[in-house]
Amino acid sequence: GEDPTEPFHSIPYAFKPVPDEPPIARARAELKSLGLHPASLPLGVDIETWLKEGKTGWDAFPNTGQGKIDAQTGPLAEALTDPNIRLETGAHVDWLETAPDGKSIAAIHYTQDGAQKTLSPKLVILSAGAINSAAILLRSPSSKGKGLANGSDQVGRNFMNHNSSAMLAIDPRRRNDSVYQKTLMLNDYYLSDGKGGKPLGNVQLLGKIDGNMLKANVKTMPKFVLDFMASHAVDWYLMCEDLPDPESRIMVDGKEIVMQWRRSNMQSLEGLTKAMRENLRACGYPIVLSRPFDKRTPSHQCGTVKMGNDPATSPLDPFCRAWDHQNLFVVDGGFLPTSAAVNPALSIAAQALRVADYLRRSEL
Ligand SMILES: Cc1cc2nc3c(=O)[nH]c(=O)nc-3n(C[C@H](O)[C@H](O)[C@H](O)COP(=O)(O)OP(=O)(O)OC[C@H]3O[C@@H](n4cnc5c(N)ncnc54)[C@H](O)[C@@H]3O)c2cc1C
Repeated sequence: GEDPTEPFHSIPYAFKPVPDEPPIARARAELKSLGLHPASLPLGVDIETWLKEGKTGWDAFPNTGQGKIDAQTGPLAEALTDPNIRLETGAHVDWLETAPDGKSIAAIHYTQDGAQKTLSPKLVILSAGAINSAAILLRSPSSKGKGLANGSDQVGRNFMNHNSSAMLAIDPRRRNDSVYQKTLMLNDYYLSDGKGGKPLGNVQLLGKIDGNMLKANVKTMPKFVLDFMASHAVDWYLMCEDLPDPESRIMVDGKEIVMQWRRSNMQSLEGLTKAMRENLRACGYPIVLSRPFDKRTPSHQCGTVKMGNDPATSPLDPFCRAWDHQNLFVVDGGFLPTSAAVNPALSIAAQALRVADYLRRSEL
């Protein structure tokens, strides 16, 4: 395919790529002219429905009706048509309780509409995200006082969150009027730095940035300047692998969650930033600005309850079952032992489907 890192496909994608709007088609041609390999970004988006419901380019917008194919519009909506499945909303899980021998989870304690409630299911699938799943396990009482599923002492450790930057390529002579610009990626630096050195990471477009978003980050700059910059910018996202480190941790302090993120591999982000700055200047954008995301945006949180082959070093087995409690599975970004350098949602979804298939065969 167009992407040099594209793996083998048993079947082609079911749908064609979301087409580039004209300013993005131009950016694609410019990057190609440098000998790079811009490729269409795989997206869970029904673009016609999306645009019919609102001309928003903001990719984090949580309610675009049926246009964004997420957990709710995809599998959840279908699952809820099954009369055996009930969804409890507004339920905040506080802690898990084990059976007296500690080998299984006997109850889930949660708060709903201000009331303390309890459930005692046969199987417990914890999927609260890498930070909150770790926090729930660490808060739950255990004989050794280290929380649940934690015989390896790894729960909460190896917290990873990509090292990433926003990069605005600005040409004051050309407007970027795209509504949905997030259609391109570049993996030329994914497997090496392009010169035989270490990998750098993935580059892809962000949802369209506007002046309000810039104002939230650069408060001193007048809004009309930021509006001008945003409307003349093509907005990129540079993403590099964060490596697992047991001292990069999620911890709990009473009801508070403490995030001690130790970033690693920052030299990859520096290398990718330098390479892309040079490329975008060579494409004709005289102004290229970049800013790393910090701990306020743990969007790609993972690690913390990793799977592995050895109970001494991992909380979960390769099917996400807790080594210490036979009826507990943790299925969210927490199970990832490494972060790779791509958005994690599809890898999490793929493992969730694999675990579901395993559960159907072994537990139901
Ligand atoms: C702004 C933004 C943009 C992103 N864009 C992309 C993208 O383009 N592509 C991509 O692949 N990834 C993207 N991601 C990352 C992606 O959303 C996450 O990797 C993915 O959703 C993680 O899945 P998860 O199952 O681990 O956790 P989540 O999807 O976060 O699910 C955890 C759920 O548990 C609930 N929960 C938490 N604590 C409790 C509790 N105590 N009790 C009850 N419920 C609880 C939460 O409300 C949530 O519904 C983006 C993330 C953000 C924030």
